[in-house]
Amino acid sequence: MQWLAQQLQQLEAKGLRRQIRPLSSGGPYVEREGRRLLNLASNDYLGLSTDPRLTAAAREALARWGIGAGAARLVVGDRPVHDALEVALAALKETEAALVFPSGYAANVGVLSALAGPRDQIFADALNHASLNDGARLSRARFRYYRHRDLEQLEHLLRGPGPGRGGRRFIVTDAIFSMDGTIAPLAELAELAERYEALLIVDDAHGTGVVGPEGRGTAHHLGVAGRIPVQVATLSKALGVQGGAALGTRLLIDYLVHRARAFIYSTGLAPVLAAAALEAVRLVQSGEGARRRQRQQAHVARLKAGLEARGYTVRHEAPAPMLAVLVGSPAAALQLSAHLEAHGVLAPAIRPPTVPPGTSRIRLAPMAIHTDDDIEAALAAFPEADQLKRHAA
Ligand code: PMP
Repeated sequence: MQWLAQQLQQLEAKGLRRQIRPLSSGGPYVEREGRRLLNLASNDYLGLSTDPRLTAAAREALARWGIGAGAARLVVGDRPVHDALEVALAALKETEAALVFPSGYAANVGVLSALAGPRDQIFADALNHASLNDGARLSRARFRYYRHRDLEQLEHLLRGPGPGRGGRRFIVTDAIFSMDGTIAPLAELAELAERYEALLIVDDAHGTGVVGPEGRGTAHHLGVAGRIPVQVATLSKALGVQGGAALGTRLLIDYLVHRARAFIYSTGLAPVLAAAALEAVRLVQSGEGARRRQRQQAHVARLKAGLEARGYTVRHEAPAPMLAVLVGSPAAALQLSAHLEAHGVLAPAIRPPTVPPGTSRIRLAPMAIHTDDDIEAALAAFPEADQLKRHAA
């Protein structure tokens, strides 16, 4: 298996070798190799992953049902808490029904491969998450990218040859692009989908819980919730837990129960996680949820303004809960990340293939439970942008 070593050496030479580096704690401040670091790298936007109310809900579920579901949901892996969570998620997103998957990744793969088939066409934003692309590939549908948020190019593709007899068309997009902090034009996409008889599938992994009134998500923020027939969410980001969900009509969910292989052939979500996620859904819809969202947004805005003042190119569109600091080469991104870590801030370099070549970056995602002082400390850890360039050159 020497070819494996060769490939890894090639990655090393390009600055693309990855390392799994354990943290000895989680939450807003983490510990690595004995040092306390400000964690600006998670998707735990509201700080719920360490919230005592979630851990208490999990503990209660643990005492009642044990750790594992023991089987697929359709066999003997289903508990009342799965149904309660699905009802709560559907209420949050104001859809008729929901179906929980073991992860957001599994939800996307399950939904795409269940709905699309070899006679179909899928049109996808070029920056969509890997799990949507993997699901599309598994469906064996004809697959075309359109440039990031380029509605003209999408319409051009939709005007082109159709899928042929019995074939269907799908438009697939992330709602919030997490490596860019950009937001999909969902109203315009819904319009195109309606005009060209395509089914719109939206992955709101990064909006659910943290965007829109009561944390209902990006579709509500943009006022188009009723126009998106298929939505996917994750329990792993703002909700602070783990797992994924598909949302839509009862008919859609009933179909997925019969056809989404990532649901059918995988052990049910652990009941402890379902119970914690149920508590998280309750919390995000409370007054406290609203206050946390407001704080998180304020932190993002402060980071953006501070970094632009230091000469950085920042990509972000409100109310996305993250921002991207573009630096260019993998080496420059690694250098900046190492500098930040030396100054007490954890924010890993994001490099190809996660992002296109030449656009390596640092992604920052503050948490609602960070303090204003934390955000100022994070800004102070950044060198002036022109200093960074001189180092990288
Ligand atoms: N969709 C998007 C847009 C994501 O960013 C992610 C996680 N990185 C997922 C889906 C997968 O979700 P999960 O981590 O729950 O598998």
